[in-house]
Amino acid sequence: MSRIDLPSLATAAQDEVARQMSICNACRYCEGLCAVFPAMELRRVFEGGDTDYLSNLCHNCGACYFDCQYAPPHEFAVNVPNAMAELREESYARYAWPAAARPLFEKNGLWVALISAIAVTVFIAGFAALSDPAALFASGTEEGAFYRVMPHNTMVAIFGAAFLFALLSIAISLRNFWRAAGPMKVSVGSLWQAMKDAGRLRYLDGGGMGCMNESEAPTDNRRLWHHLTFYGFLLCFASTTSGTISHYIFDWQAPYPWWSPTKIFGVLGGIGIVIGPIGLLAARRTRATPLKRADTGLGAAFLWMLLALGVTGLVLTALRHTPAMGLLLALHLGVVFGFFLTMPYGKFVHGLYRYAALVRHAHEQKGQG
Ligand code: SF4
Ligand code: SF4
Repeated sequence: MSRIDLPSLATAAQDEVARQMSICNACRYCEGLCAVFPAMELRRVFEGGDTDYLSNLCHNCGACYFDCQYAPPHEFAVNVPNAMAELREESYARYAWPAAARPLFEKNGLWVALISAIAVTVFIAGFAALSDPAALFASGTEEGAFYRVMPHNTMVAIFGAAFLFALLSIAISLRNFWRAAGPMKVSVGSLWQAMKDAGRLRYLDGGGMGCMNESEAPTDNRRLWHHLTFYGFLLCFASTTSGTISHYIFDWQAPYPWWSPTKIFGVLGGIGIVIGPIGLLAARRTRATPLKRADTGLGAAFLWMLLALGVTGLVLTALRHTPAMGLLLALHLGVVFGFFLTMPYGKFVHGLYRYAALVRHAHEQKGQG
């Protein structure tokens, strides 16, 4: 396997990361802060795929900006978190599949909002047009109530198709990203090491001090919000999996009682993807590292989407015994569908690209050639 063909000319964002990495490679003051600097030290030249890899290895903790003697107003103007963030966002579009969807990363916030609004509108209009009004405005605590509003098979067909397309799109994008940085074997040890590093956000701690988000004073707040978001999302996924097993193996239909694994995972996960994104949105507003890039809305759109998923899911759980159940179900399913559609073309992909970068890093550090 060879590197994929990248445009022969590096982009301005790749050039800027390569320029800053050349300065850092001579300086090396920050080599203990995170994975980026040890990975950089293995290279003398930084081609496009290398810079994209390094940018996805950066966790944007901000520490190297505050530690840098060459940061602006120095003429070298080194601002590694800024350069990496700009390139990281650009890299999501570069490797996205199909290519026709790449423009969705420009003005991403607008596109995600638009697609989600259309999905919600279509679901509510579809429910109103196709459901029995008596079922739509009936409460829904008894087994099978959700499927009187939307048949289970229809739900599986619509969401299954959207989810499978998202998986295919993300898999091809990830393969493109992987190949751009050069061929490399993947070992179980590297996968496991990367999983541990990603699971505890090892490189969001500024080398052990914490994330420097608001100022030079490090805190662990961003890591806490991110953990709540990530593990909340995993619990929501566990809830969906548990619901699928309950339905197909135990012939037990939704909605489920509060003590069922599906409900416990779902409520805990929902709380996580409400509190975590709120914290991360607040942290974005207090970010001290100066950013020069135009904000495409990519990060904020993803956080608002997760927040909408959590809030609509929790409200549906709380009010499913009322006549509002049908409309709340339509609203929640519309948001879920919008999320599935935008998954490959939004900030969701950052977790997978970063995991792939961590796998490569783990492999390189073990010297497995
Ligand atoms: S960020 Fe600044 S201090 Fe750190 S290695 Fe690069 S040039 Fe040196
Ligand atoms: S993870 Fe932190 S220390 Fe490392 S390059 Fe990114 S901002 Fe700098």
